[in-house]
Amino acid sequence: TKWVYGFGGGSADGDASMKNLLGGKGANLAEMSSLGLPVPPGFTITTEACVHYYSNGQSYPADLADQVKAGLAAVEGVVGKTFGDPTNPLLVSVRSGARASMPGMMDTVLNLGLNDETVEGLAALSGDRRFAFDSYRRFITMYSNVVLGLSHDDFEEVLDDHKDRLGLTVDTELAAEDWEKVVADYKAVVEDRLGRPFPQDPHDQLWGAIGAVFASWMNERAKFYRRMHDIPESWGTAVNVQSMVFGNMGETSATGVAFTRNPSTGEARLYGEFLINAQGEDVVAGIRTPQSLTRAGREEMGETAPSMEEAMPEVFAQFVDVVGTLERHYRDMQDIEFTVEQGRLWMLQTRNGKRTAKAALKIAVEMAADGVISRDEAVLRVDPSALDQLLHPTLDPDAPRTVVAHGLPASPGAATGKIVFDADEAERLNQLGDAVILVRDETSPEDIHGMHAARGIVTARGGMTSHAAVVARGMGRPCVSGAGEIRIDEKAGTFTVRGRTFKAGDVITIDGSKGEVMEGAVKMIEPELTGDFQTLMAWADGARRLKVRANAETPLDAKTARGFGAEGIGLCRTEHMFFDDERISAVREMILADDEAGRRAALAKIAPFQKADFVELFTIMAGLPVTVRLLDPPLHEFIPHSEAEIDALAAGSGLDAAKLKRRANELHETNPMLGHRGCRLGVAYPEIYEMQVRAILEAALEVKRASGRAPTPEIMHPLVAKGAEMKYLRELTDRTAEAVFEAAGDRVDYLVGTMIELPRAAIRADDLAEHAAFFSFGTNDLTQTTFGISRDDSGRFLQAYLDKGIFEHDPFVRLDQDGVGDLIRIATERGRKVRADVKLGICGEHGGDPSSIAFCEAAGLDYVSCSPYRVPIARLAAAQAAL
Ligand code: ADP
Ligand code: MG
Ligand code: MG
Repeated sequence: TKWVYGFGGGSADGDASMKNLLGGKGANLAEMSSLGLPVPPGFTITTEACVHYYSNGQSYPADLADQVKAGLAAVEGVVGKTFGDPTNPLLVSVRSGARASMPGMMDTVLNLGLNDETVEGLAALSGDRRFAFDSYRRFITMYSNVVLGLSHDDFEEVLDDHKDRLGLTVDTELAAEDWEKVVADYKAVVEDRLGRPFPQDPHDQLWGAIGAVFASWMNERAKFYRRMHDIPESWGTAVNVQSMVFGNMGETSATGVAFTRNPSTGEARLYGEFLINAQGEDVVAGIRTPQSLTRAGREEMGETAPSMEEAMPEVFAQFVDVVGTLERHYRDMQDIEFTVEQGRLWMLQTRNGKRTAKAALKIAVEMAADGVISRDEAVLRVDPSALDQLLHPTLDPDAPRTVVAHGLPASPGAATGKIVFDADEAERLNQLGDAVILVRDETSPEDIHGMHAARGIVTARGGMTSHAAVVARGMGRPCVSGAGEIRIDEKAGTFTVRGRTFKAGDVITIDGSKGEVMEGAVKMIEPELTGDFQTLMAWADGARRLKVRANAETPLDAKTARGFGAEGIGLCRTEHMFFDDERISAVREMILADDEAGRRAALAKIAPFQKADFVELFTIMAGLPVTVRLLDPPLHEFIPHSEAEIDALAAGSGLDAAKLKRRANELHETNPMLGHRGCRLGVAYPEIYEMQVRAILEAALEVKRASGRAPTPEIMHPLVAKGAEMKYLRELTDRTAEAVFEAAGDRVDYLVGTMIELPRAAIRADDLAEHAAFFSFGTNDLTQTTFGISRDDSGRFLQAYLDKGIFEHDPFVRLDQDGVGDLIRIATERGRKVRADVKLGICGEHGGDPSSIAFCEAAGLDYVSCSPYRVPIARLAAAQAAL
């Protein structure tokens, strides 16, 4: 097997299409090499080697060592240096690189190959002792941290002591002999902590680093990131070994990060940051605040230090050329890492850049408008779930506010929450239902779970490409980075800014689009969805087959849904219309009634509410289909439990309290989820469903008279299991309808159908289709009844199933396509056999989940129905599924 793929010197063994084998970084390094761009030569150890490593008790393939040796020899040939040679040493970086980019999730080691001898060679070759020992101390820190498991802090302390002793504040002020002393102390730290010296043999170093990259695939933050982004553990990571170039060789050297377009706004302008005389992670880690790449960027940010465009105009011109080539070649916005070594440009990475939803829309629409990509491609470019960012409120521009600090607009959006300083605390409070803003000096990959749990993030240090900024944009969390006036005192649990002190728990608001931190809560407004959003959604609507409806019962939800482009209501839950005080007592009265007469008396109180609600809903939906589900009450939610509640109900209704109590006890169910609910209620007490059918159809007739446009009600019976049940309910519905039409002297079209929520209903869908004109797959309940898992209680054990890999996903979030999916396929097939035009939809939470929507497209359903705020997501996902 070929485990090692070389690149550099104008050619490569691999190319960009081989991401699965070479990882994203390796595949793109190979591609850039073949394009003739300046890439330091190196080689990639494949993801297959990593998979082999984990499936063979963490051991390497037998022939890997020989292939690595050959790969190294090839690099030595191109560079003209030799690994471990004391006079002319080749140094390398060891970089991880999975198929999907996992920024900052795994660790990179730079300057590998340095030891007490080769550092002298590097000093002699470069004529710069300071540079050589600066590189060596960086290597010892990184290697000790990543490979040997020591803490950065140990080394920071040593360095701080030296700086104090020398009276210096900035690293670049240390001289060669200072760094030599630091290196000696660093080595002593390693020996002290580990009881053995820092490894001096470059080959030992190399294999240590390769092993550490493989090991990092299983570290906690990588696991968390994979879970969040649905990346399978089975993919493994590649390892890239690449000859070093140095951005820390003085004032004509630099390192930087660039985006070919602005990743926050999508604006088509080169965007990025760089640091002169610096290496690798200095930019990303936010240790020094970097400078803008372009003059325009510098002026916008009000920086005084020169931009790359001004400081090194010739290399900059070459760089602009190269990034233009890359964007044209990949036909997408690129996120690029580069280094300038003594005036010479080197490309270290390119990938399709992460971006906000706003930027994604703008870039896709503009690239399609420019003919770079097709409209279909544009539709496929935008992640439907990311649209969520745009659908939520932003700050009301007219609302009063007190800005307490300014930082960089690192990730757009607004958020209000309580201040927390610690990622674990953020997670804890979020679980308790608190909105929190994570405030930190800077973030690191250890903070990811806290960033995820927070509504927004503020950092005191770091630029637009700092860890916090990149991760926040990827997650869609608003972020203000580099708010330098903020002084955090973590121990005290406070931060101070301009003489004011804020405590943990105090509420602040941040505006990540402006880089502002404000005191208290600031009023928010609904977003306006215009421009690029409308354009792309129109393209998506043209491409999709599935219809998209919303689950809505209130007028507000219905209006929101229509605003977002819903093509009807797929689920109106009538019991949700009864949750206010006045109505709930009428419903309680009805449920607790002893006999039919008592029920009818209570129903007579409910009927006018019902009818008025439907009139409003049908009016808003103006002729679009509205699926009304008849009462499916979780009875226990409606039964009064306390003495006080029963007494109040008795007083309000004039019923006898003692009788009510007895009745409430009678109605108590051991297992309400499988109890007297759904259509079982309509079968036992037909007068309830009769009242509802009457209210629906009378409302429809009224709206028809008033507007001249007849609504299309779809009357849905919940939790049906048997054909005979469906027959009974259909006849009840039709009989009631005829009575209504006769009394009114007018008719409307309506459909009678059912939810499919029970395995039996799915399997016997042919029986149901005899009497049902439509099926709506209620996948929340269908998932519960298929697995026999209660959604409300699954939280206790689901995590264990996810951790052990028994479930890949929470089946209540992502449809279980094998099991529940099979039931849907069976029901679809059997239902259509009996009734070819049976209308098919899905109305569980899954109706708004892109992967489940793709399933619905493949299964040939007619529509999906989801919560109003997910309607645009579903429209886009449906289009992508169809393309
Ligand atoms: P990540 O995936 O976390 O971005 P990388 O492997 O890209 O990690 O490495 C981080 C940084 O290290 C790069 O952006 C680059 O600046 C620096 N780096 C990596 N390899 C080299 C190299 N061969 N020469 C110089 N710098 C390098
Ligand atoms: Mg990188
Ligand atoms: Mg249900």
